Amino acid sequence: MRTITSITEMQQWSSIQKKNGCRIGLVPTMGYLHEGHLSLVRQARQDCDLVVVSVFVNPIQFGVGEDFEEYPRDLSRDCQLLDQERADVVFAPLAKDMYPAGYNSFVEVYGEITEKMCGASRPGHFRGVTTVVSKLFHICQPDLAYFGQKDAQQLLVVKKMVEELNFPLKIIGVPIVREADGLALSSRNVYLNEQQRQEALVLSRSLQAAQQLIKDGERDVEKVRVHIKDIIETSPQAQIDYIEINRASDLASLERIEGKVLIALAVKFGTTRLIDNLLVEV
Ligand code: AMP
Repeated sequence: MRTITSITEMQQWSSIQKKNGCRIGLVPTMGYLHEGHLSLVRQARQDCDLVVVSVFVNPIQFGVGEDFEEYPRDLSRDCQLLDQERADVVFAPLAKDMYPAGYNSFVEVYGEITEKMCGASRPGHFRGVTTVVSKLFHICQPDLAYFGQKDAQQLLVVKKMVEELNFPLKIIGVPIVREADGLALSSRNVYLNEQQRQEALVLSRSLQAAQQLIKDGERDVEKVRVHIKDIIETSPQAQIDYIEINRASDLASLERIEGKVLIALAVKFGTTRLIDNLLVEV
């Protein structure tokens, strides 16, 4: 496995592979890898001739007062894990090369899809995501790019950008990987103390309960929302950022549950903000 930090070198490598007819799969990450990331890498390994994993903590997707500085980093451990997964290249560019002094080009998806949920709580976040993802696509030139359903809104936003800006690649969504007790894997889980880790189970538990309520016939979005809220509030430390139930395809608001819906949560435990979601089809 090769580690590339130079943008030019990465772009040249990809161009040569493409000329040779290889199918490149890209897995964009911010590193500190866990089984969730590795499931994306395994999917890419199955589908593609060559697998590139980018490891880059993207400063422009963090807001003021967010955890950019504290975000966990361990590139040598990441490289070991990726080597075991038979990735071909780890692309780990430097922030000063991705955003040199005077940098002023951004890519933004407008509308409801970026305005609600994490878009409302983290202004500018998705602009940072779509900008870095566009740059990674131009640099790594993937045929397929892999994103986790864990970040359901990000997956929708990236898909929309790729479609509307005619990027010549396909976005593949990969299911959420969870701990045995239901907690969705996240690099941020390392911030949780023991008590918070235990209380964070209200996320997956409330999603499961909502699914059961819908299975039992409830169709009123507000009633399902309140049910989720009641369960989350059994955790003394939980501070709810949002509980949203929207149409899964475009995050349009709903009053009744019909078709495919996305139930999405963002909740803070202490200073750690966790997200989780579930797709339900009726
Ligand atoms: P991150 O490093 O948090 O930016 O995540 C990189 C990619 O891994 C994103 O596409 C995430 O959606 C995905 N990912 C993170 N956690 C999980 C998980 N628990 N299950 C599946 N995919 C995940």
